[in-house]
Amino acid sequence: MNAYCEARPVLFQPTERADISRLLTCEGEEQQALFQAARAARQAAGMDAVKLRGVIELSNYCQKTCDYCAIRPQNKEMIRYRMDVDTILAITAEIVAEGITTVFLQSGQDPKSDAMVLEAIRRIRQADVNVLLNLGEKSRATYARYVEAGADSYILKFETSDPVLYQNIVGTPLAKRLECARWIQDVGMKLGTGNIIGLPGQTLDTLVDDILLAQELQPDFVSSSPFIPNENTPLEHLGVGDLQLTLNSIAICRLLFPHALIPAVSALEKIKKGGQLMGLNAGANVLTINFTPKDFRDKYAIYSKERFVVSLDHAHATIAAAGLRPRQVANPVEVVSSYN
Ligand code: SAH
Repeated sequence: MNAYCEARPVLFQPTERADISRLLTCEGEEQQALFQAARAARQAAGMDAVKLRGVIELSNYCQKTCDYCAIRPQNKEMIRYRMDVDTILAITAEIVAEGITTVFLQSGQDPKSDAMVLEAIRRIRQADVNVLLNLGEKSRATYARYVEAGADSYILKFETSDPVLYQNIVGTPLAKRLECARWIQDVGMKLGTGNIIGLPGQTLDTLVDDILLAQELQPDFVSSSPFIPNENTPLEHLGVGDLQLTLNSIAICRLLFPHALIPAVSALEKIKKGGQLMGLNAGANVLTINFTPKDFRDKYAIYSKERFVVSLDHAHATIAAAGLRPRQVANPVEVVSSYN
């Protein structure tokens, strides 16, 4: 029996720790078989059409002290900004004009932007697009207010399933983050979650636990992203996360969550040209296009100062190269007037 035949039974149901562990590190023919199985699972679930999101990075103020992230408050080199509602709406109009139907609001954990974000959500919803948030840990009541305003989904990555590692690197308890993830689901939003691959002290076992934790949370979206060293952070001298481990993790997630939205994150492209195409080929089905204006974008340095900024052209070229299509988009419309 060749490696592919031997691998086959577990490829489609990697439920045991040992299976997940082996698939995370597989190479060569077995890795190709894993990716092929992931693509087949995506197709069988009717999830081949690539979802496009338009992200607006609305504030780089942050309370959290994550060792991997340059927008941590200890980074005094960082010039801080917080957008106003009009700026967000002007950018939303650009997103909607491209026919993209998910407006993705991301920021540092910045309680001072909450009132503004609520107003922005209400007004973005007038254009009849979905609002996806990634704003960090909030109270249950705040999450509920986002829903009332019209948000329908929220990404809160657990980053790592190891509580000691999480506490050491992020500075707050993992249990708190997981409680927030439950609240997000309780108040009626779809949940996105995931890990970072390449944090110091992480082992293969930690990465298996990450996948098992994702299974426990039953998210609607799940991601694996390689670690990117950021300037002016305690982890700035570390190497980037491992590309192959990340791709394998994406493929395993596709097998375990066939119906999920799984992004090929920009960090993949940052560590390797063509990395996002590799992500789509491993089973991902989301690309996020950056609509943050350059002046702000340069200050939102979560993936290092020279991060890879995903443009619409790059996204379409990547989707075509993967032999896929973008998910049916709305008719591009003139929306600016609807905000008046
Ligand atoms: N403040 C929000 C959003 C954080 S930024 C929150 O707490 O959820 C969005 C994601 O970027 C983070 O969840 C983290 O997974 C990722 N990220 C930030 N810095 C990173 C780095 N240096 N390498 C890889 N991923 C990083």
